[in-house]
Amino acid sequence: ANLLNVRGVSRRFQSSHGETLALQATDLDVAENDFITILGPSGCGKSTLLRIVAGLDRQSTGEVLLDGARIEGPGADRGMVFQSYTLFPWLTVQDNVCFGLRERGLPRARQLEIAAGFIHKVGLKGFERHFPKQLSGGMQQRTALARALANQPRMLLMDEPFGALDHQTRELMQELLLGIWEAERTTVLFVTHDIDEAVFMGSRVVVMSARPGRIKLDRSVPLPHPRH
Ligand code: ADP
Ligand code: ADP
Repeated sequence: ANLLNVRGVSRRFQSSHGETLALQATDLDVAENDFITILGPSGCGKSTLLRIVAGLDRQSTGEVLLDGARIEGPGADRGMVFQSYTLFPWLTVQDNVCFGLRERGLPRARQLEIAAGFIHKVGLKGFERHFPKQLSGGMQQRTALARALANQPRMLLMDEPFGALDHQTRELMQELLLGIWEAERTTVLFVTHDIDEAVFMGSRVVVMSARPGRIKLDRSVPLPHPRH
């Protein structure tokens, strides 16, 4: 069954210079357990599409359904990971990962137990009490990934998550994320402008064209993924 349906979605932005059509009549059905990479040049509307699915932006036309229900705003059922990490700088790794669990009112002991599991999965055992600024970019992104996973979202929405990392760290993070996906089969929507990354990561690659922003190709990729 489809977890997500994007139907005829457009997004128009108004500005003093006139109008930008960021997305045009976009359709996308996402099956549960898919790892979808959305590939396209800068400005083609990838972030706009992801932000609409996240509930951080609204489409101008069309509808977006998650489990058959219209998306009205952000929710714990969709975990976001951004290029810029967006960790809470005043919270430790552990408390960043606990954040959503605390919001949901889970007992502290249960929060710590769940957080410990995901901190271990992303390879940050021993760094629980570090603050974000004490960590490398890759470790900050590991924290952000653990934070997103800890809420056990229906979908993981990732916008160029490894775009700020050096080449070697990026490859490590790609392998970490694929390993987690293979183990947990979380549905992933992953935006990138890097074709190697899109083909390496995706069980399905969706290619968007620059103008107007819309999908021009949508292919499943046989697994396992060869690195080169
Ligand atoms: P991508 O993620 O593929 O780089 P975006 O979704 O960020 O593309 O942007 C698609 C287009 O919409 C671009 O032309 C961009 O400048 C424009 N755009 C995005 N967000 C806004 C906004 N808040 N206001 C005006 N224009 C926007
Ligand atoms: P990305 O890293 O995906 O390319 P951008 O730098 O294009 O992201 O956009 C970052 C933020 O700025 C987003 O919230 C986006 O909606 C907004 N934005 C992008 N283009 C414009 C624009 N032309 N006018 C106003 N806001 C924009």
